[in-house]
Amino acid sequence: MVLRHSPYTIELKRRFTLSSGSRTTTPAVIVELEQDGIVGYGEGAMPPYLGESLQSAEAFFAKVDMSKYRDPSRRDEILDDIDRIAPGNNAAKAAIDIALHDWVGKAMGQPWHRILGIDPGKTPLTSFTIGMDTPEAIRQVVADADGFQILKVKLGSENDQEIITTVRECTDKPLRVDVNQGWKDARQALSLCEWLADRNVELVEQPLPAQRGEEMAWLRSHSPIPIIADESVLRLEDVKRCAGVFDGINVKLMKSTGMREAYSMIMLARSLGLKIMLGCMTETSCAISAAAQLSPLVDWADLDGAALIKNDPFVGATIVDGRIVMPKGNGIGVTRISS
Ligand code: MG
Repeated sequence: MVLRHSPYTIELKRRFTLSSGSRTTTPAVIVELEQDGIVGYGEGAMPPYLGESLQSAEAFFAKVDMSKYRDPSRRDEILDDIDRIAPGNNAAKAAIDIALHDWVGKAMGQPWHRILGIDPGKTPLTSFTIGMDTPEAIRQVVADADGFQILKVKLGSENDQEIITTVRECTDKPLRVDVNQGWKDARQALSLCEWLADRNVELVEQPLPAQRGEEMAWLRSHSPIPIIADESVLRLEDVKRCAGVFDGINVKLMKSTGMREAYSMIMLARSLGLKIMLGCMTETSCAISAAAQLSPLVDWADLDGAALIKNDPFVGATIVDGRIVMPKGNGIGVTRISS
């Protein structure tokens, strides 16, 4: 198997601000795995707050020797090997995982939802993300999100109530809130959760910093709306300790090291009674289509990554009337349209 990788700068349609910072681009790598005339595509998207970069991804790929694998369908053997090369590097690992899944599905002549026995007709609605911004800009984004039935609002600043009030002046659609660890005090977080519950907000994601487990459990036991883990849960090993602390977890391919472990996280979360959100970074249709294959398994989807970017080099999963539409092709179901 031959591994090729190239840097790709994802350009956002508009400046994106969350409690940890602001940006207009996201660095990514596009991976191709080729054997027997079949090319599998993968992607690693690396928003800076997760600690990976083009340099770290390239250094990781330099240690990967795909030429030693004669049978790419031995997914567990290959991905276990790659995981052992170095700790971390979750997005770089995800890029290889997605490309391997794409290759195997294409070689089998099947899409991954069928290989896993998932009904492609049961894809969920996805939320559309509204970054922190001025009231004028927020009104514009809410108008632009006309085709979406659920909005996800980024909070975690001084202006949280102003932001929600602005959104509520424009729409009565259900809202989800993502604080990105931005609230610092559990009692204050509880009064905000109560205030949000009165404004048709259906859940709050990562209200407190990841290391504040005890306060999070207290908040969860008092909050009228579900509290969901994002920064507190990266991989399979993190899922178990979310039970009793959160109501659910946000699974993302860039955190989980790809499709294989995301699927295991979904199964484990289900067995522990946790709800499941399937989320994303700003990503192209490559990684979004890989996540879409798993999307009928989850309670809430937040897979608007490719809808937020202006230079998507792939076509695959789409969003129609706010609902994810499973791509038609084999593997992860993408076609590359530009380089
Ligand atoms: Mg989040």
